[in-house]
Amino acid sequence: MNDEMRREGGRPGEIEIKGVAKAYEGESSTVTAVENCSFVVERGRFTVLVGPSGCGKTTLINLVAGYESPTEGEIRLDGALVTDPGPDRLVVFQETALFPWMTTIDNVVYGPKVQRSMPPHEIIAKAGQLLDTVGLSEFRDKFPIQLSGGMQRRAELARALINEPAVLLMDEPFRGLDAMTRELMQEYLLKLFEGSNRTILFVTSEIDEAILFADNLIVLSRSPGKVRAEIPVDLGRPRTLDMLTQRRYAELKHEALTILYEEAVGAFASGVRSASDIVEAYQKREVG
Ligand code: ADP
Ligand code: MG
Repeated sequence: MNDEMRREGGRPGEIEIKGVAKAYEGESSTVTAVENCSFVVERGRFTVLVGPSGCGKTTLINLVAGYESPTEGEIRLDGALVTDPGPDRLVVFQETALFPWMTTIDNVVYGPKVQRSMPPHEIIAKAGQLLDTVGLSEFRDKFPIQLSGGMQRRAELARALINEPAVLLMDEPFRGLDAMTRELMQEYLLKLFEGSNRTILFVTSEIDEAILFADNLIVLSRSPGKVRAEIPVDLGRPRTLDMLTQRRYAELKHEALTILYEEAVGAFASGVRSASDIVEAYQKREVG
């Protein structure tokens, strides 16, 4: 599917974040988590938020999900003001869990079965297809405890996607997985995205993961978070992990890391080391 088709696709799912601020009132002080934050999550595209730890990424996901309301500004989904959670937005957290007493397939069909949103035979057919896409066909009748951590995450993805939400909101869903499992998950998510025309807003603190996924990379400032830069990622699709070795990839990474570094430590004031030395040192670590 090319970019044009994804943008023009008939599905809903465009999010506008306009001048949003969120302050939390404490007993003695107020924490401003995000401030004057504006960006668009384009329909059918993969938007990734990166930024230093504590800059307000989870807050933004909670606001878009409708779990919380902005103190200032507004969030619109396909033009309508977001005031509450809704079935059009599905959130996948790191700690999302399968029902331990249900098999993989029962977990995946649970939502639509309870909501009666599709005829039963359609639900089963679709669940089978999704399990196939995430490589779990042979594990459909196993219980969560019989699956590896990575398989559980894949089953969770299938369970989320069967509901066909207009928007998928993902807050560091792969954090804490070992490197091999994480790469597998990345490949599955790319496959699901590239075959589905769905809008995704994804939060990560891992810059390689961010660039691998993103059509649009949004770099947030240090706390309180606002948009520091928007970097269109002009690598082709389908994306593959071997794109990490491309020159364009390295350029994009350098651009993003330079900004993230500035945000992490303030401006390059000391002048002791060159910017590229610092960026190189910083690349070896996670940015969040
Ligand atoms: P990130 O996900 O980028 O690490 P968060 O959105 O979790 O950042 O947090 C942004 C800031 O808002 C932090 O300073 C955090 O302590 C504060 N914060 C988040 N949620 C709450 C809350 N419910 N009450 C008070 N402060 C909060
Ligand atoms: Mg967070």
